[in-house]
Amino acid sequence: MQLWEYFFEDLFLSVDTVLYNTKVYMDGNLVDAGIAIDDGKIVKIAKITNLPQASTRINLNGHITLPGLIDSHVHLRDQELAYKEDFITGTAAAAAGGVTSVIDMPNNKPVTMSSFSLKERIKLAEKRILVNVGFNSTFPKKLEEIDEIVETGVIGFKVYMSNNIGGIDVDNDEQLTSAFKKAAKNRVPVFVHAEDRKIIEERTKELQTVGQNDTEAFSFVHSPEAEVKSVHRVIRVVKKSGVHVHFCHISSKLGLNAVLNAKQEGLPVTCEITPHNLLLISEQYRFHGNFALTVPPLRTKNDVSALWDGLRNGCVDIVASDHAPHSLKEKNTNSVWNALPGIPGLETTLPLLLTEVNENRLSLPELVQITSERPAKIFGIKNRGVIKQNNWADFVVVDIKLDHKIDASAFFSKAKYSPFDGKSMKGKVLQTFVNGRLVFDSGDIVIIHNNGNI
Ligand SMILES: [Zn+2]
Repeated sequence: MQLWEYFFEDLFLSVDTVLYNTKVYMDGNLVDAGIAIDDGKIVKIAKITNLPQASTRINLNGHITLPGLIDSHVHLRDQELAYKEDFITGTAAAAAGGVTSVIDMPNNKPVTMSSFSLKERIKLAEKRILVNVGFNSTFPKKLEEIDEIVETGVIGFKVYMSNNIGGIDVDNDEQLTSAFKKAAKNRVPVFVHAEDRKIIEERTKELQTVGQNDTEAFSFVHSPEAEVKSVHRVIRVVKKSGVHVHFCHISSKLGLNAVLNAKQEGLPVTCEITPHNLLLISEQYRFHGNFALTVPPLRTKNDVSALWDGLRNGCVDIVASDHAPHSLKEKNTNSVWNALPGIPGLETTLPLLLTEVNENRLSLPELVQITSERPAKIFGIKNRGVIKQNNWADFVVVDIKLDHKIDASAFFSKAKYSPFDGKSMKGKVLQTFVNGRLVFDSGDIVIIHNNGNI
């Protein structure tokens, strides 16, 4: 090669993709700029005239580019529960909702609770996922296997305080403390579903004997008292173990206050809330019945306003969907005791929150903090959650003013129902990029798989 050819190459340095004509969310501001992407990563953010040549150039028509959402609470199912959801449909739903990374929960069939079951799940997910997926495991029976599970690759461990899923007995404080200590030693967080198993068991029995089987009975069982009692118990274990505990789907004023107290004591705890607990109240059961049934259940106006306060004062760290799809048959039952709690949420979270931004109840920087920046920080997900040079090119492009309605029948998720079905939204997902690749565009999934593990 001649010397001038070297010079020529350098001058016309070319990257994979350039996105242009967009307002890029950076450091709390929207900046008119373009983004150059190479090998999945952001190489430059600059005015279009200062960006390099690219094989693909995409005009984003002046719309807003936000960091892709990181949803820390998702049940992707698959395996023997593939009739509810599988890796393809679950991650397609994520992409359609502007979610570029998810953390998968372990209450699968088989339960993710060993290095073997985790490997099986990771292997199945390869080439079937459209967004980045991180995995959680439950604790194994033999706690010495925890190191091996961490080595195989988990974001954290999940404990269901309401029932025994996985290898440890949640009624046994000693076992819990040893498991939490092992997690702390491995520097991974413990995700906690905080509901007191005994309160649930006793109250369920009590109501079933008198034949109460409606959503009100369900709310009495899965009560704020059950939540707060469990939060207190777990906090005692945090004190003994020093582990970072992340409380999933805190739903009540009582529960949130307990988390706030722990934070004020300087304990390593964080918490999430769900969009449905933030935006709906228990009166909604009249319209949706078991199709709005979740654990924890919908609460009172008082609880909802406590969650809003928590968002504003920073006690609530993040919003996560708790995307928990079930079949129609599993939801559509006469007795609440036979209905499975859980709703799909991946495709509704961002439109719902953008609508709140348009209603001035949430600012755009707050939205980005609770859905992208903080999840990345809290769970140590490197080079994601923020749009900046050298980070992965995970974006969602939104039309912040576009009116539309949620249509559950058009969900990519197999669960085609939602308590938000038919609701008017302002703010829509137009495109989703994962690791620099356009995955979702104008209502359609446009690639086959993305290969991303976080
Ligand atoms: Zn869940």
